[in-house]
Amino acid sequence: MAENRILAEMAYDGERGALCFQDVRYLLIRPETLVSLQAALEAEIGPARAGEILYASGYTGGRLSGRKYREAFGLNEREAAEFMCRMGGEIGWGRFHLVELDAQARRLVVEVIASPFAQSENGATRASEAGVCHFIRGVLGGLGSGLFEAAVEAREVSCLARGNGLCRFEVQALETLLIGG
Ligand SMILES: [Zn+2]
Repeated sequence: MAENRILAEMAYDGERGALCFQDVRYLLIRPETLVSLQAALEAEIGPARAGEILYASGYTGGRLSGRKYREAFGLNEREAAEFMCRMGGEIGWGRFHLVELDAQARRLVVEVIASPFAQSENGATRASEAGVCHFIRGVLGGLGSGLFEAAVEAREVSCLARGNGLCRFEVQALETLLIGG
């Protein structure tokens, strides 16, 4: 079995029924739960707006985690991106590969094999004209925003659900500076 630092260091608090890594709480959830939520949102308000909302949800977690683990482990930008990519796989979000982190161009590119978000409610691969892995796109957007200290645009340029072999995410910092955030 492959080494999994997150699982090895995950603490179980039976009193609260809580799983924590570095005092941050996580929960295990079947992909079908999130896939159903996404399908319901898409039916209700359309895929584009649903994608924005799911992106925003992932973004919050990515930004918080990027900052938290950078501080907790004293990581530089590249180490933080590598940590988050390794962690992505270790918490079951698919196998992440950091393709590019260019601090000068303020660009982050990550490929993910076997995204659980590209599956349908019955477990088969979804078929969609646009990328469907908005949670991952959001996490990487939040991570990039924290690393570059800027507002970012995050795109999923290929996706399993579009018939591509893997999902590829490109995060680019925008000229506009993020105030506060
Ligand atoms: Zn995808």
